[in-house]
Amino acid sequence: MAIKNNPTGDISPHIIRFQDNNYQLTREWLDKEVDAKVRNNDDWRWPTLKFISYQEGHVTLLNTCGNRSHTLMLQVKDGHLLVNCSCSNTGITICEHAYAGLYTIIWHLGERYFEKLQPNGTIALAFAYKNYFDKEETTAGLNVSVRPELKSVFRLAQKLETIDLPAILKLPALPAQEEVSHPAEALGYLVIISYRSKLLPALLPCVGKLNKIGTDIKIFNQFLSGVQKQYSNLVTDSQQELNTACYHLWKMVEKIPGHIIQKEPIQKMEDKLSAIFGAWKKILPLLQKQQFIYSYYLYGLRELKDRPAKKRIQKITLSELLPALRFMLADKGAFYQLQLQVWLNGKLLTGYDAGIAFFIRHQETFYMLSSLRDAAIAEWIHRSGGWITIFKEHFSQFEQEVLMPLRESYTIETSLSKTMRKR
Ligand SMILES: [Zn+2]
Repeated sequence: MAIKNNPTGDISPHIIRFQDNNYQLTREWLDKEVDAKVRNNDDWRWPTLKFISYQEGHVTLLNTCGNRSHTLMLQVKDGHLLVNCSCSNTGITICEHAYAGLYTIIWHLGERYFEKLQPNGTIALAFAYKNYFDKEETTAGLNVSVRPELKSVFRLAQKLETIDLPAILKLPALPAQEEVSHPAEALGYLVIISYRSKLLPALLPCVGKLNKIGTDIKIFNQFLSGVQKQYSNLVTDSQQELNTACYHLWKMVEKIPGHIIQKEPIQKMEDKLSAIFGAWKKILPLLQKQQFIYSYYLYGLRELKDRPAKKRIQKITLSELLPALRFMLADKGAFYQLQLQVWLNGKLLTGYDAGIAFFIRHQETFYMLSSLRDAAIAEWIHRSGGWITIFKEHFSQFEQEVLMPLRESYTIETSLSKTMRKR
């Protein structure tokens, strides 16, 4: 392979204007840039171009045809393509080597390849930032492309022809939802459910740190801190009233056992139980206005000196609906079963939990029972295991002692056994 000498910059390069000043070079345009002698030269056809170097805006390629080679230097400067061949061409237009080389580039790499040669263009940046560009050596020299993860690179990407950003920004618009600022902390309320029913349900305020979007308390401070003066900025008048009510409720709840039905005759406890139930009824409308309500399973009073255990906190809702209690006496063949039904707005509620005094819980929703009597009845059935089984031998006694008095206050429906229905 012979490289003809004179690769020095002594000879000034030939200048090729781009079509429409847009850095594009079509084959037709290139043909117009050379005379017929060059255009029709058969001596140097379809060369291969091997990338040699890129320096200071110059791409140097080894332009080979058969066993002969020249170096071809290309540069884009001041909106023109500068072309230099090592053949010492002094003609008016570019030589046949350069012509065939450019023709090959256009053929393989496209009419827009020369855009990439601009100062601060794709090739310049690809050598400055190696990790963000893919380089590929082809038979038409070096091709370079932006890595796909960069998406559209400013100035390098093809422009959206029609984009007129100032005009777009003048289109009718409405302000989007601004980020609502919320305080870092908030006052939450914890419905205290005592483990093994040592206490009747109570309510305690507790301050905690809000999550980023302000929808939930993610970290609670120590119990009882919510009523301390240092949090006075977090407490509204309505919360102040609620906190006072919580305090009075707590004073009542801590003095008596956690059941409605106790060993003592219920009449003896009625006043205290009614006071607690009544306190809850007054608390409820205030509590329903609060955003942060949780249930908390309290294992022991000692915990109240610390912060609540995260595992036992659950966000809940307190419904305004009042559950209605009814009974179902089901004939199971050998025995009957007395079951409690909870109805909400005329619909039977299934899968409820009656294990919390005064309340029926269904998933994350708490429904407060409408009366202390309902609360006692619900507790009776809950503590009986959910229903009561009556063998037929005992039925007449059960009817006398339970069903007849119960029927005076509650609806009792009966359902026949499957075998009875078949008859
Ligand atoms: Zn030449």
